[in-house]
Amino acid sequence: MTTKKPEIVVLGAGVIGLQTALTLLEAGHSVTIIAKFWPGEEHVEYTSSKYHWRTHAGPDDLQGQRFDRETYEHWLELVKKDEDTGLVLIPSTYIWDSPTPETANSGASIWWSTLVPTFTPLTHPHPLLPEGAHFGISYQSFCLNPQTYLAYLLSRCTDHGVKTHTYEVDSLAGVFEYAPGAAGVVNCTGLGAIELVDPVEAEKLFPTRGQTILVSGEAEMARLRVGEGYISYVIRRPGAGTILGGCKVEGDWNEEVDEELSKEIMERCKILAPELLVNGEFEIISQQVGRRPSRRGGPRIEVEWKEMEGQQRFICHHYGHSGAG
Ligand SMILES: Cc1cc2nc3c(=O)[nH]c(=O)nc-3n(C[C@H](O)[C@H](O)[C@H](O)COP(=O)(O)OP(=O)(O)OC[C@H]3O[C@@H](n4cnc5c(N)ncnc54)[C@H](O)[C@@H]3O)c2cc1C
Repeated sequence: MTTKKPEIVVLGAGVIGLQTALTLLEAGHSVTIIAKFWPGEEHVEYTSSKYHWRTHAGPDDLQGQRFDRETYEHWLELVKKDEDTGLVLIPSTYIWDSPTPETANSGASIWWSTLVPTFTPLTHPHPLLPEGAHFGISYQSFCLNPQTYLAYLLSRCTDHGVKTHTYEVDSLAGVFEYAPGAAGVVNCTGLGAIELVDPVEAEKLFPTRGQTILVSGEAEMARLRVGEGYISYVIRRPGAGTILGGCKVEGDWNEEVDEELSKEIMERCKILAPELLVNGEFEIISQQVGRRPSRRGGPRIEVEWKEMEGQQRFICHHYGHSGAG
């Protein structure tokens, strides 16, 4: 006799909510996803509609390293399948303008140096190391088209019989109106959690503003350069063009495109991706602002139990992934 696994609600249909729902479905749970925004939609409050595998985990962040390692290994398997995932594994570079602990020992102390294939230190003179740069590495990294990837995750959930509701809830208990028999809810609301958690917790949440430009042509490589007061990146968006970035401004809610910043981003990216220039300029398709869902102390992955709608149910919080969704 097989035991039926409990029904679970996933609140949120970003990359975190959809992957959580798929994992639960594959484990045999029935799942209802409730969300305001869904794959195919673009909105500043829907961060996943904006992104490449680049670890954000530092040398002491063992949890972040585990997440990034598992994602990389999962995608290595996924990219081998002949499915429309929007995912590609391509050559990449990471360049530092000044010495950091990571650039010491030719990058050998970087925790992910043994994870990614073809990890190679770059020192001058090297055609991939721009003038003025201190040190770099080349390696294989993933770029993805988020809209294709989100649609892929949702279609996999649909194959497993997921139920969906489009709704903006004003409390976590509110989800049980749609799934009265559910044992609990996984809270994957990104920055939306600010409105749903207690005030002390909400104080820890803030946006880290990003601004990007989608341009024509697919860059040969993914490239990232870190300098004094700036971060510059070129990330192929398979089937759609290339994303140029960027910025990281903590606590900035501004959703308007800053044209001056766009000019600075494009000037820096001209050195990184000259193959995309037409008569010396990029062909702009669109510009966008995104909010990384940041949290002081790192992501919250924690279970609590509460009486909700007359029953003891669990809330599994799963938000605050900032720039490493
Ligand atoms: C410019 C930029 C570049 C980035 N680059 C990278 C990168 O290179 N690599 C990387 O790993 N990450 C990157 N990120 C970060 C990554 O995009 C995020 O960490 C990730 O998308 C967060 O996903 P999420 O599912 O937690 O949140 P979201 O995608 O914001 O999803 C939240 C979901 O919850 C729903 N929701 C919220 N509140 C409610 C409510 N009250 N009722 C109903 N539904 C609700 C929303 O509608 C949505 O469906 C980048 C982000 C930005 C902005």
